[in-house]
Amino acid sequence: MTTPVIGPRWTNWGGNQQAVATDVLTPGTVDELAAQVKEASGSGRRIKAVGSGHSFTAIAVADDQRLFLHRMAGLVAVDGPLVTVQAGMQLATLNAVLAEHGLAMTNLGDIDRQTVAGAISTGTHGTGIEYATLASCVEAVKLVTGTGEILAIGKDDPLFPAVRVGLGALGVLVEVTLRCVEAFTLLADERPMALADVLAGLDKWIPANDHLEFFWYPYTDRAMLKVNNRVPAHDRPLSKFRGWMDDDFLSNSVFAAVCRLGRAMPGTVPAISAFAARALSARTYTGRSDQVFCSERRVRFTEMEYEIPRAALPEVIAALPGLIGGLPFKVQFPVEVRFTGPDDIWMSHGYGRESAYIAVHQFTGVEYEPYFRAVEAMCQALGGRPHWGKLHYRSAADLRPAYPKFDDFVAVRDRLDPARVFANDYLDRVLGS
Ligand SMILES: Cc1cc2nc3c(=O)[nH]c(=O)nc-3n(C[C@H](O)[C@H](O)[C@H](O)COP(=O)(O)OP(=O)(O)OC[C@H]3O[C@@H](n4cnc5c(N)ncnc54)[C@H](O)[C@@H]3O)c2cc1C
Repeated sequence: MTTPVIGPRWTNWGGNQQAVATDVLTPGTVDELAAQVKEASGSGRRIKAVGSGHSFTAIAVADDQRLFLHRMAGLVAVDGPLVTVQAGMQLATLNAVLAEHGLAMTNLGDIDRQTVAGAISTGTHGTGIEYATLASCVEAVKLVTGTGEILAIGKDDPLFPAVRVGLGALGVLVEVTLRCVEAFTLLADERPMALADVLAGLDKWIPANDHLEFFWYPYTDRAMLKVNNRVPAHDRPLSKFRGWMDDDFLSNSVFAAVCRLGRAMPGTVPAISAFAARALSARTYTGRSDQVFCSERRVRFTEMEYEIPRAALPEVIAALPGLIGGLPFKVQFPVEVRFTGPDDIWMSHGYGRESAYIAVHQFTGVEYEPYFRAVEAMCQALGGRPHWGKLHYRSAADLRPAYPKFDDFVAVRDRLDPARVFANDYLDRVLGS
């Protein structure tokens, strides 16, 4: 587990956002927090909750008081599959707690460093067409609003579709009840393939596998297909050595060295990408669900991720080689593509439709903006929605048409945070002030 660095100086995981807060708040109880919010609201001050700082956007930047919830990060109750935790709990801790109770999250993203509140607030997701965002597993929340009121919001509450992906704009989440499932084992199958073969198989394989994603290697016609399927427990345990070799050594240590080489000598990037794509080998392993879904990421990068209607994916993939080839710099990271089913959460990227997600990355310290802007322009034209926690250049005027319930969300914000205690520049940009 990682402990947040508590203090006025803050930088996000990607290193592309920094801020110095005027004060740091570390409440230990809901009442203490509610009093702090009331005080801020009465004196025209702002409060910004920060989770693990894993968003690339400025969504968690505090320009006044920064709120840490590491003292409100415990288990509250387990009631069958419904598990209530304090919202500052890290996903890694949640996964361990769930395992102790024979439970698991039904789906997860790539890592487990985020807090529960941070992950659900930005629409964090994994992959799998039968699954939506992590927020779709939320059954109830407890929230401190911008006036210091403490609200318990369950499924029948009209605020429910707004508060699960709240962008930190509606209040401070203090408790979250998650619908979990019985603990399960995943069989992972990872295999290098020709990109054309992956694309040709998608319509058949997406519904046939629990969790499917692929990575395309720029400057090549190669991809890595990854599928995870639920299997009876421990039918083929993951060897620790193999796991470390493939997951940590190759995806962190060697990858970091290769990225540094590419940053210093950009001309080598296409050859490195082609070599990496050829060097990939097929492997299968099984493990506890969260340990298969999540891995450690020690190579720092910047990222943008776009949700697009699933049917639009072939058009985007077909355009990417030309787009990347035309950039005035090289792209070192593979492009990650995932799939989710619809949810009914107003500000969720997957609201009301089957989605494909295109994630583009650059190694830390390498130019990215023209790349991200070009991918954004293409995805925006197809009705795409940017991940709230990953870099993008959209603002309220052009986000409103992409979200059918945008104005309903803003109305809830007006009601729950009339004095804009939880505002910051990012929220002013994407929601209006
Ligand atoms: C290496 C890496 C891998 C990632 N993998 C994935 C992935 O697989 N899938 C995916 O979808 N995303 C992924 N992300 C993005 C990440 O999941 C989101 O940005 C997430 O929001 C980060 O959670 P956090 O706890 O760090 O929150 P922060 O980034 O610190 O904050 C995010 C938002 O949550 C708000 N917030 C925090 N606590 C509270 C609270 N108690 N109440 C109300 N609002 C609160 C903040 O104010 C802010 O608005 C990844 C990011 C990184 C760096």
